[in-house]
Amino acid sequence: MDKFTRNYVEKIMSGVIARNPGESEFHQAVREVVESVASYITAYPHLMDLKIMERMVEPERVIIFRVPWMDDRGEIQINRGFRVQMNSAIGPYKGGIRFHSSVNLSIMKFLAFEQTFKNALTTLPMGGAKGGSDFNPRGKSDAEVMRFCQSFMTELQRHIGQDTDVPAGDIGVGGREIGYLFGQYKRLRDEFTGTLTGKGLAWGGSLLRPEATGYGLCYFALQMLSTKGESFKDKTVLVSGAGNVAQYAAKKAVSLGAKVVTLSDSDGFIHDPEGLDEEKLAYVFELKNIRRGRIKEYAEKFPGATYYPGERPWRIPCDIALPCATQNEIEKADAENLVKGGCMCVAEGANMPSTPEAIAIFLEHKLLYSPGKASNAGGVATSGLEMSQNSIRQKWTAEEVDAHLRRIMSDIHAACLKYGTQEDGYVNYVKGANIAGFIKVAGAMVDQGLV
Ligand code: GLU
Repeated sequence: MDKFTRNYVEKIMSGVIARNPGESEFHQAVREVVESVASYITAYPHLMDLKIMERMVEPERVIIFRVPWMDDRGEIQINRGFRVQMNSAIGPYKGGIRFHSSVNLSIMKFLAFEQTFKNALTTLPMGGAKGGSDFNPRGKSDAEVMRFCQSFMTELQRHIGQDTDVPAGDIGVGGREIGYLFGQYKRLRDEFTGTLTGKGLAWGGSLLRPEATGYGLCYFALQMLSTKGESFKDKTVLVSGAGNVAQYAAKKAVSLGAKVVTLSDSDGFIHDPEGLDEEKLAYVFELKNIRRGRIKEYAEKFPGATYYPGERPWRIPCDIALPCATQNEIEKADAENLVKGGCMCVAEGANMPSTPEAIAIFLEHKLLYSPGKASNAGGVATSGLEMSQNSIRQKWTAEEVDAHLRRIMSDIHAACLKYGTQEDGYVNYVKGANIAGFIKVAGAMVDQGLV
């Protein structure tokens, strides 16, 4: 990077840090994108004159609201609700809702920023947003979750709509929560529209939406592997997380011939050297989705597996790593362990699971490495397909949706190759994804004038 471009990066970053003090996750997400696209921007001075990047890092709108609700003991609880509407240049705001005790403005902004580029990569017309609350659904009864969702939606409903902003799920928000949120939205607005995605199949949901993020991740990883003449067959795979993304990533990887040996949650990870099979996967689906249990129970059920409390899976030797838990779950030492353990491919299912120091290790060792905004885009892409089906009031078959999903993941991979292939042939997927997403959003912003 030349001196002029370096100065440009630092000028953007000092503005972001000054205006968003202490929001380290947001700074991290912005820096990654700005460093990738700075050379492109300085080569096209009109993008500098129009202050496109300065505008992109300022959310179009941020809504913060009180969410009061009553727990089962009759005690009043107060949580904080958020919706960050980051960018609507290429379509209505679109992005998930996260319920987790760690949720704060920094996390919401980083996710909304990532979402803007991810959604641009899907080839579908969706802007970027994210929402959520510091509400922790763990240990809450169904009735408590319902009252919370109803209170949350009572405020959120005035800011969303099928042509304005279309929320979906994320960590802590699955089919149950989307149901309660949709019910309250419909009641307050008296309309049955596709304003939320991830809906139940009987009331407007799309086939394959639950599977889409994990399946899309494996389709993308397969494309990465094929650039080296490789596949999932007989590969040892580490998966982190045990939620929606991890479950379907593991399922697809197993069906493609891989040996998936780990899963995790925030308390620890399980290592099953024999690998998950259909029976073990079915157990995990029941454990997590019906009983809402913890992953340590897996090792109690299957004695061949070991549970490691307080640890993450990355020190287990592997060929492929699929981080599907949460942000910054792979730090520098973890990345070094992955390299040492023989890992050749890291494809992210979570949003920003690798720290910048970890990414630097992957790039230095020329691993196949893809950022979440490229490889986990299958989820939101299938949300886009759900929106299409709702608009035309039709339902596509699983085969039709899967064909769209495969095509979209392959288009994203092609975009990464186009903008990320270096002179020595190495593909920098971070650069490729960021530049491809940026070009689309920036072009739309230029076309639409100063708004
Ligand atoms: N939360 C998912 C993501 O991070 C899906 C968002 C959506 O379907 O709108 O992309």
